[in-house]
Formats: sequence, C-alpha cells, structure tokens
Amino acid sequence: MRWMKVAVHTGAECEEAVTQILLAAGAQGVVLEGDGSRRAVIAYLPEHSPVSAVDIEQQVLGLQRYGLEPGPARVSVEWVQDEDWAESWKRHYQPLAIGRRLLVKPAWVLVPPSERIVIELDPGMAFGTGYHPTTALCLEALEELVRAGETVVDVGTGSGILAIAAARLGAGSVVAVDIDPQAVQVARENCRRNGVHERVWVAAGSTAAARALLAEHQAHLVVANILADVIADMAGDLYALLRPRGVLVASGIIDDACPLVRRSLERAGFSIRDERARSEWRCLIAERTA
Ligand code: SAH
Repeated sequence: MRWMKVAVHTGAECEEAVTQILLAAGAQGVVLEGDGSRRAVIAYLPEHSPVSAVDIEQQVLGLQRYGLEPGPARVSVEWVQDEDWAESWKRHYQPLAIGRRLLVKPAWVLVPPSERIVIELDPGMAFGTGYHPTTALCLEALEELVRAGETVVDVGTGSGILAIAAARLGAGSVVAVDIDPQAVQVARENCRRNGVHERVWVAAGSTAAARALLAEHQAHLVVANILADVIADMAGDLYALLRPRGVLVASGIIDDACPLVRRSLERAGFSIRDERARSEWRCLIAERTA
C-alpha cells in the first residue's frame, strides 16, 4: 500500500489547529519535525484519502479567519511505498523524560522500571503528548509547584497529561476541563490508565465547569495551556478559581502575544512571578496576591 506523507510548514501558533486538520483528514497521528522556522507538522494519509493536499492547504490558510497566523502554510507531499505508516508515526512517538522527575510515554511502549514518575498516554484525537514545548514547560512548572494534598485545576486538559501529572506529583484532587467532548473522553481514559481516576474529575466545559466542580473550594494551583487570546480573555475567571497566594501556570502563549497576556493577567489582579521560554513559546507563572 502507498501512503501520502503530508508535511505542513506553518507558524508555531497554528500547530495545534493544523494537527486537528490532519486528524480530521484521516491521519492516525502527527509528528512535529525540525526546529524554529523549519518546523513542520507531518502526517501520513492513506493513498485513496478523499482529502487532497490542496484541501489541506486551503484549510490551513483558512485559519486566518480564526485570528491565527498560518505563516507560510506550505504543504508538501511525498509518496511512501509499502510501509505501515499508520503504525509508523507511533514509532516516532517515544518515551520522553521531562524535568527532573517525569517520564511521558505512549501506552504502546514498554519501558524498564524507572526512578521517574511514568505517565502513560494514548493521545487519541486529543492534543497533549508532552512533545509540544508548551506542554513541556507546564510539566516542568507542575513538577516544581505541586504540593502534596493540594487542589489543582487544569483548564484545556486535552489528553489529560497535565492533570495526570499533577495527581501523580501528589495533588489531593484535580479538576480537569475541556470544551472538546472528545478530549474529555480521552482524558478520562488516560486518567484510568494511570490509576488517578479517583482523584481527577474531568468535565466538559471551561472555567465555569471547573468552578462548579470545585464547589466551595478554591485551587492552590491552576494550569491553563491554551492560546494567548483565550488566556487573556479568561484571566478574571482563572483568578477567581484560585485561593489567595494561589499560583497560575499559563502557557500556549506565542512570544509576540506575551505582553498582551501579561497585561490582561495583571489587570485581573495577578502578579507575574516568572516568564519562561522554549523556542517561540512562553509560559507565565503568576500569583494571586490578594
Ligand atoms: N493540556 C494539554 C492540552 C493543551 S491543548 C497540554 O498541555 O498538552 C489546548 C486544549 O484546550 C484543547 O484540548 C482545547 O480543546 C482546549 N480549549 C480551548 N479553548 C478552551 C476554553 N476556552 N476552555 C477550556 N478548554 C479549551
């Protein structure tokens, strides 16, 4: 069988949206290749895919309508013979050590016993493998900030990776929400897979759903790895989820948009404690001071 290897060269801000386009076109998964401006999202489509490279290019260019900058939006296609590429992307997705204590691994790979806390994921159609720089920045921040028994909220949980990490790092209870019902399902399955389903509550929705699940409680830590605009818009709601001296880890922020997010968080009452960078992505650590 022949496979169509599709490489989409696009702006970093569009990587998640491009991933969704490729999955919707029938890809079993995607791989990010290259660095900086040479980065591409790669997927393999079956030979008789009803979706052409031109359709994909049109959809990538169409992201402008959502205020995303698709960059070069160049789609290149290569035919690949006789290899089971539907399984092959999984070979690219290998265990990944993150920070000092975490190891993220795909469900289908076995690893030798490790000193690290192993998080096992099947990302399915949801975003969040640990490979994206924003996810890695958040995992590193969680490793530093989660304290035993505390309450953590994960807004935009995707595969559930950050919620699971928080629980495995000792959080007493974790509330995880996502507006995408498919992500909610994948996150629930991943929580079960990691044995943290009794401490992680996953629900469809956003900050209001998290508020409802917390009931009268307030979180010690809130993590939101979404997009700059979304975080800027929900700054006040994120603030309200936290108890005084509670900490927000906000990522998914492309460098150009970081000043906007900082301003919006400060306006909501946060003090910015740190700004961390990985390639063009930023992660802000902010504290609710009052
Ligand atoms: N937390 C994961 C996934 C991040 S991708 C990780 O760090 O890798 C961002 C997720 O946020 C997506 O699953 C998307 O569906 C969700 N999302 C987007 N806007 C949202 C909103 N307003 N409220 C809650 N979730 C949102």
